[in-house]
Amino acid sequence: AAQKETLEFQTEVRQLLHLMVHSLYSSREIFLRELISNASDACDRLRFDALKDESLYEGDGELGIRVEYDKEARTVTISDNGIGMNRDDVIENLGTIARSGTQHFINQLTGDQAKDAKLIGQFGVGFYSSFIVAQRVEVLSRRAGVPASEGVRWESDGEGAYTLETVELPRRGTQVILHLRDDMDEFLDGYRLRQVIRTYSDHISLPIVMPKEATGEEDEAPGDETVNKASALWMRSKTEISDDEYEAFYKQVAHDFEGPLTWMHNKVEGNLSYVSLLFIPKRAPFDLFNREQPNGVHLYVRRVFIMDDAEHLMPRYLRFVRGIIDSDDLPLNVSRELLQHNRQIEKIKSASVKRVLDRLESMAEKEPENYASFWSTFGRVLKEGPAEDFGNRERIAKLLRFSSTHTDSETENVSLDDYIARMKENQTSIYYVTADSFSAAKNSPHLEIFRKKGIEVLLLGDPVDEWCVTHLGEYNGKQLVHVAKGDLDLGDLDDAEDKEEREKTETEYKPLVERLEGVLGDRVKNVRVSHRLTDSPSCLVVEEHEFAVSMQRMLKAAGH
Ligand code: ADP
Ligand code: MG
Repeated sequence: AAQKETLEFQTEVRQLLHLMVHSLYSSREIFLRELISNASDACDRLRFDALKDESLYEGDGELGIRVEYDKEARTVTISDNGIGMNRDDVIENLGTIARSGTQHFINQLTGDQAKDAKLIGQFGVGFYSSFIVAQRVEVLSRRAGVPASEGVRWESDGEGAYTLETVELPRRGTQVILHLRDDMDEFLDGYRLRQVIRTYSDHISLPIVMPKEATGEEDEAPGDETVNKASALWMRSKTEISDDEYEAFYKQVAHDFEGPLTWMHNKVEGNLSYVSLLFIPKRAPFDLFNREQPNGVHLYVRRVFIMDDAEHLMPRYLRFVRGIIDSDDLPLNVSRELLQHNRQIEKIKSASVKRVLDRLESMAEKEPENYASFWSTFGRVLKEGPAEDFGNRERIAKLLRFSSTHTDSETENVSLDDYIARMKENQTSIYYVTADSFSAAKNSPHLEIFRKKGIEVLLLGDPVDEWCVTHLGEYNGKQLVHVAKGDLDLGDLDDAEDKEEREKTETEYKPLVERLEGVLGDRVKNVRVSHRLTDSPSCLVVEEHEFAVSMQRMLKAAGH
């Protein structure tokens, strides 16, 4: 072997290792789920790269994962014949944490071991969970397609540093050897390992094999057996899949520790054949508001994993949807560029959007409690919908929930249909007010006249609300009107008495208005006697076609 080099872990890795080892003792078996999921990813990646370059298989195209233990040596070994890593890959992947999620992860640790353990998979810091059970970890890896002499051996005790050396590795792929801590004997047991694999990794679509347990009577070493189901759950018929199986599958694809809120499983046959299995989670991922986050819906072509890519398969306003789409018709070597303008993908996407909207609609109708919980978790994301998906904006609008003066509560539970049902007899518009916060909206001086007349107003306290209603424009033939815009014409809502009084006031204040116009000059467009205010002496309004005040502030803050 070439000379051995010692390198330091990045600070974050050291922090993480420390936390992991000290706080996750009670969930120690998750190390196996994490290492198997990495092995499975590595096989998926090889399969994908080999679509362009068959030689990467090096004559061995039967991809799989192997788990073994050695009582004497006190080791558990997880190996795969996937893509493997070269020296730079190893330094990058096992010595640093490239993802921004790690700091979030560390911040979110609660000290509650069960909860913290569940965060691990979600944050993609899985490999380091090896150190929960191992006092020393060895990784032997060789990248597919490089010579056997370019294997890499990585080793660490998880304290502060690791060593690297170049070694000869005839076999492509990765082998992770865990030298167990003294109190981890339970994993030197074939039944315990099988149980953990079946609990967490049953739906991995590759075979996970283990040597058969020896009975002590055989002459030769017993052969291997496949431990997991190793079949693509989504290909089975709905009626044969139990809720528990759907939930377990969801947890695996979404890296979630809780089951989903609901799921949609459809098989489409005909011109375009595909299967989709889509889930709406219960909880939001930590990076929900990162609009670039990948990992939403995974694309498969004839059972082969192609890529995880939220954008081409789901619009951004549905980026919380998780699951898989498996197409029979796309070419296996489909690239990201190709997906962008692919008519089949477009069709699959619009049908999938429709399914999600259908499900949300029926949930809103039939399971109001579930819908309320969905809304409080993902409502803010759905509000991006009218701007992004013009074609579906009426349907999205039906799903929106707002706060309003009807309850004056911050809980968003008023639909536009609720609002319309409560409109005054001659009311033709849906009124809303926007502000920087709910309480500012609720206390807006613009509302005085509306409250006095008993006209409901939607209270929008989030910039995305304004974005949303501006793009919506109208719903069910009713204009959405900002209470602060232009000349408030409450039209037929005024009674005759009010009108007479208004004219009287206007004449009375004419001299004052003229003086104010003189004083304020160019700083305002004009000064009007207002009938909106009943308690406050004055307020700012904007012209009908200008952005409302808070939007102007937002744009200013963003440098416009
Ligand atoms: P994640 O799987 O979320 O990326 P991990 O900590 O589990 O995070 O793994 C870090 C990285 O190490 C992986 O993204 C991958 O690039 C690399 N890696 C880990 N295990 C393997 C393996 N068995 N084969 C190839 N690469 C691996
Ligand atoms: Mg991983």
